[in-house]
Amino acid sequence: MAETVNAGQVRVGDRVARLEISGAWLVDPVAGREGPGEIVVRDGVLEAVTWLEGADAEGVGPGGVVVAAGFLDLHVHLREPGNEDAETVASGLAAAAHGGFTTVCAMANTTPAADEPGVFARVRAAAAASGSPVELLLHGAVTVGRGGERLAALGELADAGAVGFSDDGSPVQSAVILRNALLYAGMLGIPLFEHAEDPVLTAGAEANEGYVATVLGLKGWPVAGEVAAVERAIAVLVAVLPDAPRARLHLTHLSTAGALDAVRRAKAAGLPVTCDVTPHHLGLTDEWVAGARRWAWEALDGDGAARDPWADGALVAHPYATACKVNPPLRAAEDAAAVLAALVDGTADAVATDHAPHTQVDKEAEFGLAANGISGVETALGVLLAAVGARRLTLARAIEALTVGPARVLGARAGGRGGARGLTEGAPADLVVLDVGAAWTVSPEALASRGRNTPLLGRDLPGRVLVTVAGGRLAYRDPEA
Ligand SMILES: [Zn+2]
Repeated sequence: MAETVNAGQVRVGDRVARLEISGAWLVDPVAGREGPGEIVVRDGVLEAVTWLEGADAEGVGPGGVVVAAGFLDLHVHLREPGNEDAETVASGLAAAAHGGFTTVCAMANTTPAADEPGVFARVRAAAAASGSPVELLLHGAVTVGRGGERLAALGELADAGAVGFSDDGSPVQSAVILRNALLYAGMLGIPLFEHAEDPVLTAGAEANEGYVATVLGLKGWPVAGEVAAVERAIAVLVAVLPDAPRARLHLTHLSTAGALDAVRRAKAAGLPVTCDVTPHHLGLTDEWVAGARRWAWEALDGDGAARDPWADGALVAHPYATACKVNPPLRAAEDAAAVLAALVDGTADAVATDHAPHTQVDKEAEFGLAANGISGVETALGVLLAAVGARRLTLARAIEALTVGPARVLGARAGGRGGARGLTEGAPADLVVLDVGAAWTVSPEALASRGRNTPLLGRDLPGRVLVTVAGGRLAYRDPEA
């Protein structure tokens, strides 16, 4: 690969005057095309996309430098306002750019919650002040203060640009509220993003219900807690569709075979249901809580059943690492395999990170008391590429699930960045350049996020991001490239 970025001195936020990448593997998920090629960016515009053939294409494959459309994350927590020790809009956007994302959608569970346009204005002001060119889209809360009792002013939030409505962090607890929310959001043509959890079934839960939790003495979070919530939400959607034919239900961070089967059936029935899955639910399993560190696909035996990490010597780290505590929890290997299968077959429309940074204080606690969440926006690509490397996923599908997949979930509100537009000549450049063959070590110093709460710390991940260009401006550049 030959790379020229305008003579080194360009800073984050600056228009990219000149960037030429040749001998790369291009992935344009919108055109559904991948292959050897080169690109030229001039004055922030993707001036040329050239697909190479014959001798010019020789030796260029998907295992080296890849240029893809900029990624879109449907689900991040940026913690501002209210918990800037864990993350700020500025650090979150920097982390996103390091992960290859040029658009992120922030969840509404800030303090105060994003339940009125004034909070949107504060978050947008922080984004503008950060100088980051990463586009920040916003979810509005479903209920006032995410309290679950009164609907927030959804119309005002829609006018202020909300791309989705969600009480994420918690489910919409009452079915009556869920019904009204789907009805009003449907009238506005905006999807409702549901965190699917039956709180009665998960009260006090600490880890996935099953063998690992039993051995470790942790209270179980049963699969049924997610399946029941998904089935309830789909049933409520069916009930409102006659009155709100534009209603759309999006189920975020699904983690179980049963929930994904329910979505598969709903889609087959033609219902307007979409869903996303996270990298950690397809790549990691509950045995990580016990101290295993192998990928989910390595934790299955030949019959597709979870292996016993105590029996086969897979435990290499201390048990009860709170970096593994997340909601929904890391699941058994069979469920992780079902999550990956759903991504492969299209049941899952998108990969979303559920990037959930926390302070050390909130994680340095007894396992059951530690905050839930994994700081994941910088490691998502690496986990997916590990699955690609293990031949469990294609590069094209991984990129699609980070770009057009999530853009379609948002529809017209997705904006016009790489995820929605692909590698389009004449448009502002919105792309990521990565080296699939180069690994990087996940270390506190390597992370731009304030949240270092990831069980991947210390691990080498494939797919070093070299350059991220967002809306024609430099969002990230590998300091060593
Ligand atoms: Zn959630």
